[in-house]
Amino acid sequence: MPLWKLLLLNLYYQATRPARSWRNRKQAARGRSPAIVLYWHRIADDRTTPWTTSNATFVRQVSWLRKRFQLVSLAEAQRRIRRGYNHRPCVSVTFDDGYADNCRRAIPWLIEQQIPCTYFVTLRNVLEGEPFSHDLALGHRFEPNGMEQLRAMARAGVEIGAHTYSHPDLSSIADPRMLRREVVAAKEELQAALGQPVRYFAFPFGQYANLSPEAFEMAKQAGYAAVCSAYGGYNFPGDDPFHLQRIAADETMIRLKNWVTMDPRKLRTRRYEYQGPEVRGQRSENRGLKSIIFHSQTSILCPQFHLL
Ligand SMILES: [Zn+2]
Repeated sequence: MPLWKLLLLNLYYQATRPARSWRNRKQAARGRSPAIVLYWHRIADDRTTPWTTSNATFVRQVSWLRKRFQLVSLAEAQRRIRRGYNHRPCVSVTFDDGYADNCRRAIPWLIEQQIPCTYFVTLRNVLEGEPFSHDLALGHRFEPNGMEQLRAMARAGVEIGAHTYSHPDLSSIADPRMLRREVVAAKEELQAALGQPVRYFAFPFGQYANLSPEAFEMAKQAGYAAVCSAYGGYNFPGDDPFHLQRIAADETMIRLKNWVTMDPRKLRTRRYEYQGPEVRGQRSENRGLKSIIFHSQTSILCPQFHLL
């Protein structure tokens, strides 16, 4: 992020902090605090890609979060969403892809600090040891995690999740057999290799355009407890606990602070709907109320900062 944007974001964060604190306290008193699910990719000390965070920044980010939020597992986040009541905002830590570099310092540190973590891996890269295509495209050959590393992490309490077999854009797959390979077979093979259930699934890329109702349905039928998107957005009590919206965290410290303290602009994020209209209808009252409240706040707080 360019320096001028960082400065502007910092100004915006400081200026809106009192209003946010007031609103967040009010929400907490009403049991409406969100469950925030964050995702990182690669923690290493060469900031060679936009999805790499340095070890020092990662520790600073998580330590800052720990002082202000309850750090919980995805299962606990789901429980609070399902219960329809949450009196304290909570944060879940997740990772996507599966980089061996994460096992040098970041994961051992999380384990040592007893911070719950869900780690989504792309099975083919784990099995074949091949770097990810999105890194190769930039000329990097970062090593993926091996199965032994994942087994050790699982034994230490890290929840291993599925991030498909080959990291495709699932919305572009029309053949149900190919979709099954990515969503269902990836789960079954990973479970067999780990010797424990794989309960969570994360869409590759995870933006609106990369999601599909067919993949959601297949994940549900396969017995996943939840699937994660990655376009941003908070999860509120009463929302659909099967779809966990996540926010990118492999960014600067100020951007993370801005997002987790409920940036009014992010409150307007539209939830991806994969279900039929009758199920959507049941939840619309909840969301309708939220959007009325947040739209009015947003127009007061941040009319000019939509580019940050
Ligand atoms: Zn990915």
